[in-house]
Amino acid sequence: MRWNPRIEEMPVDELRKLQYKLMKTLVYRLYSFSPFYHDRMKDAGVHPDDIRSLADVKKLPFMYKKDLRDNYPNKMFTASTDELVRYHVSSGTTGKPTVVGYTQKDLDVWTESLARSLTSCGIGRGDVMQVSYGYGLFTGGLGLHYGAEKVGATVVPASVGSTEKQITLIQDLNVTAIACTPSYLNHISDVAEKMGVSIKNDTSLRVAVLGAEPWTAGMRDRIQERLGIRAHNIFGTSEISGPMFTDCAEQKGIHIWGDIAYTEVIDSETGENLPDGESGELVVTVLQKEAMPMIRYRVGDITSLDTSVCPCGCTHPRISRLTGRVDDMLIIRGINVFPSQVEHCLMQIPEISGQNYMIIVTRDGSLDSMRVQVELRKEFFSDKIDDLLEIRKKVAYELKNALNVSVDVELTAPDSLPRFEGKAKRVIDRRVL
Ligand code: ADP
Ligand code: ZN
Repeated sequence: MRWNPRIEEMPVDELRKLQYKLMKTLVYRLYSFSPFYHDRMKDAGVHPDDIRSLADVKKLPFMYKKDLRDNYPNKMFTASTDELVRYHVSSGTTGKPTVVGYTQKDLDVWTESLARSLTSCGIGRGDVMQVSYGYGLFTGGLGLHYGAEKVGATVVPASVGSTEKQITLIQDLNVTAIACTPSYLNHISDVAEKMGVSIKNDTSLRVAVLGAEPWTAGMRDRIQERLGIRAHNIFGTSEISGPMFTDCAEQKGIHIWGDIAYTEVIDSETGENLPDGESGELVVTVLQKEAMPMIRYRVGDITSLDTSVCPCGCTHPRISRLTGRVDDMLIIRGINVFPSQVEHCLMQIPEISGQNYMIIVTRDGSLDSMRVQVELRKEFFSDKIDDLLEIRKKVAYELKNALNVSVDVELTAPDSLPRFEGKAKRVIDRRVL
């Protein structure tokens, strides 16, 4: 299903031409009117005239989250204050929060992006969509809210929390679609079970749009199977507006609407562009933003690019499931470990609930150690110590195999680890605290 078929299926060469035109306009505008960008480009020795093709984009300097922090709250805005219609403030997962401003056109483009994305997830008129992302400074709630209204769905603006009430609403209002973090949907499912409600059998829920945190394909499969729904992946960050892009019915990568954002994947160390399929750091240029445009912004998330036409017929580039942020990487005794690798491994082990885990890193003298707390599944909960030791050994063995580093495994009782309503925080690094 398409919201804007003319754009979504436009021939690749036309799309590239359009991107180039938008890029060129943006670069000229910022060079002329934004002191920040003017100086940046000058320092890098590049003039807008040097951008003669999309390939030349790599001549432009990168932007970093630090630039936003240094210019807090609004020194980088390129629209006047009276043109702004909204502010959002990022959740500050990695430090001081940053402020984002929007003109009405910026909100319209954001909503258009979500209208295309939600339509490609099969959501539209006739659907009842519960938005269980936080409403407020976080972009998730309001973003999805306007996107869902745009496609004609009926919105239930539930926000986060009051989980039992959320479940009652899902039942009473015949909710068919939900948007939240994957960890919150897992929590909702657990609470529903305790209330004697099977989401699969007792509700009309058929599709979820999940994001704001990394989650593995294994987690997706488990959610789809347990709840009997389609679980789509939605990506965005406040700096580019908020959640904007999703995968389609094919579930083969997230479509990045090329007229809205120009995407690159680079080697974090060298800054060089990587070819399709190679994992690196995501870099985004927001092509149409008025209040706070971003050129070559180093988002920090790890993914790979696929510029081939999607089996669904969409010609826009796709990015693969994001596996975390460059700065999420833990170095344990010299070995690089991503939390998503831990999740991927835990998802394969039937005795434990892979969706609930915590990673605790400590340093004893000069030696790092990593402890992974996992929850036993009810069916495997036993008072026989030998059984438990056997499971613990198995989990430790699988983790060692997957990560190349020895891990101390702690089995915990079902329902004992923290649950999250917003972004999950599963890593406690005591080395940096
Ligand atoms: P903050 O950087 O303060 O968390 P945001 O609230 O804008 O700011 O969150 C954006 C970040 O959330 C992304 O850069 C990414 O790390 C993460 N994120 C969002 N959606 C996804 C997703 N579908 N998969 C993995 N990570 C995601
Ligand atoms: Zn597609």
